[in-house]
Amino acid sequence: MRKMPELPEVETIVRCLRRHLIGLEVEAVRVVFWPVVRNRGGPLLKKLVGQQIIGLRRRGKMVLLDFSNGLTVIIHLKMTGQLLLHPKALPPDKHMHLAFAFRARDEELRFRDVRKFGFILPVQTGEAEQTPELRRLGPEPLEIDLPAFLERLGGRRGRLKSLLLNQRFIAGVGNIYADEILYLAGLDPRAEVSRLRRRRQGKLWSAVQEVLNEAIAFKGTTIRDYRDGEGLEGLFQTRLKVYGREGESCPRCGTSIRRIRVSGRSTHFCPCCQRR
Ligand SMILES: [Zn+2]
Repeated sequence: MRKMPELPEVETIVRCLRRHLIGLEVEAVRVVFWPVVRNRGGPLLKKLVGQQIIGLRRRGKMVLLDFSNGLTVIIHLKMTGQLLLHPKALPPDKHMHLAFAFRARDEELRFRDVRKFGFILPVQTGEAEQTPELRRLGPEPLEIDLPAFLERLGGRRGRLKSLLLNQRFIAGVGNIYADEILYLAGLDPRAEVSRLRRRRQGKLWSAVQEVLNEAIAFKGTTIRDYRDGEGLEGLFQTRLKVYGREGESCPRCGTSIRRIRVSGRSTHFCPCCQRR
């Protein structure tokens, strides 16, 4: 089971790297495996040499690195991507595809990706939001308030689980947190969105806030590949109530957690606490 880093993991990576990278000047950009660079971005990557990192941001599950010359590098880690600080002297392994080295620093930022689904996309900062990768993303779930959330729910159809995974509805939630959110809200993942009563819609919004904030506080969930920028594992896997706990007892009622497929995605829930 490999897990794509979701909002809490990417937020943790960004917060961690921000402490190290802001203000550093790029000495070299080394591309080892060109297919990870999208849109023939080589010439733009070259322009980063001599520039400072002035910002690190997250949008959905993507990392955005802002540079002093008005360029931004969008990075998607996908299934197995990692952004890690490594000593320059440490020889890179065969899964390192790109590295940013910094002037007067012994560490460099390496992009590593075993499965090679991740990508690096350099763009003009002003155009970042308009790239196909970002343009269609829904709002940030921790920035949308209840009235705006309820408005976005209006007219939606389909199953609750699919709605939460839909990056155009809200950005950044994946399989782990969708299951945990629906458990906390007491909602069946198969329930039809359009039939949700107002009170339960409110519960859904609250659960989104609570689960994502707690997961960020615990620095994300590590199942296999995810590490923060310093190589440390997250701690939220100890807090998971249903995800990956098929056959274990529900912490609230003791019923066995079930695993089913909803719209093709493996889904964990308590058949007693989560009713349609
Ligand atoms: Zn239960």
